[in-house]
Amino acid sequence: MKVNLIGLSKEELFAVVDEMGEKPFRAKQLWQWIYNKGETDFAKMTSLAKDFRERLAAKYEIARPKVIRELTSDDRTRKWLMGFADGGAVESVYIPEEDRGAVCISTQVGCAMKCAFCNTGSQGFTRNLSAGEIVGQFMLARDSYGEWPTPADETRYLSNIVVMGMGEPLNNFDNTVKALKILMDDEGICISRRRITVSTSGIVPMIPKVATDMRVRLAVSLHAPNDEIRNKIMPINKKYPVAELMAACREYRKIANEPRQRITFEYIMIDGLNDSEECAHELIRLVKGVGAKFNLIPFNEWAGCPFKTSPMPRVERFQKILLKAGYTAPIRASRGRDIMAACGQLKSKAAT
Ligand code: SAH
Ligand code: SF4
Repeated sequence: MKVNLIGLSKEELFAVVDEMGEKPFRAKQLWQWIYNKGETDFAKMTSLAKDFRERLAAKYEIARPKVIRELTSDDRTRKWLMGFADGGAVESVYIPEEDRGAVCISTQVGCAMKCAFCNTGSQGFTRNLSAGEIVGQFMLARDSYGEWPTPADETRYLSNIVVMGMGEPLNNFDNTVKALKILMDDEGICISRRRITVSTSGIVPMIPKVATDMRVRLAVSLHAPNDEIRNKIMPINKKYPVAELMAACREYRKIANEPRQRITFEYIMIDGLNDSEECAHELIRLVKGVGAKFNLIPFNEWAGCPFKTSPMPRVERFQKILLKAGYTAPIRASRGRDIMAACGQLKSKAAT
């Protein structure tokens, strides 16, 4: 079987080329063909000598994940079920906005965290994705919109990345770091670190490393203002309770040292569970001094899950309390719900 070049770090690709007896600037050209131009066929890499191209093609390939299914929502959100060589599959989503768009990528097949409200979590964990499989999701999305070569400015269809698909990225830390480095490289896909957000359910010891090793934005799936409620819906909270989570968030911000940059706290609104006025006030007390903003996400219902979405008036009342305390707290419109592409609806099997 041929080795896929996608997912090799720049250093690793340079080593491959060096081993083949070619100069470093050939490696640089190859990197640009792959990640700036999006080329998948060695034969078309005309700036490289024919003999070198042939030797590459004999041993290597530039392969994307396989598209098992592609669906486009009425609101233009697009979702792919992508398959890998071992039969594993994940979903990735493109969410278009007025003047930009985010690709939501997955880091694991399934997820081990078992959050009670999450469809992905209900499937259990299969395996970590490799760096190449993580990068491949973004590249495939870009293929789908033909956004190659990398546009020179940041006005792009695919301008942002949110690591908010299936899986817990901080439990697949090294591969995620490696993938993000490739995605950020300025001779390649060139997504600025300011346009990348990694979301975690709260793997406390890894949170400061998002600032040191990834240097991207942090989102935390909080969903409750105290241990009592959070324990009910997120088993991880028993290991890392909210006080420790807040301490890790403070540490992240201290290291990131970008005072104006806030941590996004995701807060799913579940009927009768975490949506009272008292919860809103408690939340404000909890995040005091952390440097927070909120995303209020009306819970997306799915078959087999007993929770219900909070009624909109209650979501709005909750929001008002946060706004009054000076916080940013948009209510996130659910995108792609008709194709099961909304938050918490992703799954690898039987996805519709
Ligand atoms: N595992 C990471 C990354 C996935 S992000 C994390 O949990 O942060 C997926 C986001 O969707 C998380 O904020 C998650 O809490 C949210 N989510 C999960 N199930 C949901 C549902 N049914 N409705 C709305 N949001 C949901
Ligand atoms: Fe995993 Fe995130 Fe879903 Fe929890 S919400 S089960 S951590 S993907």
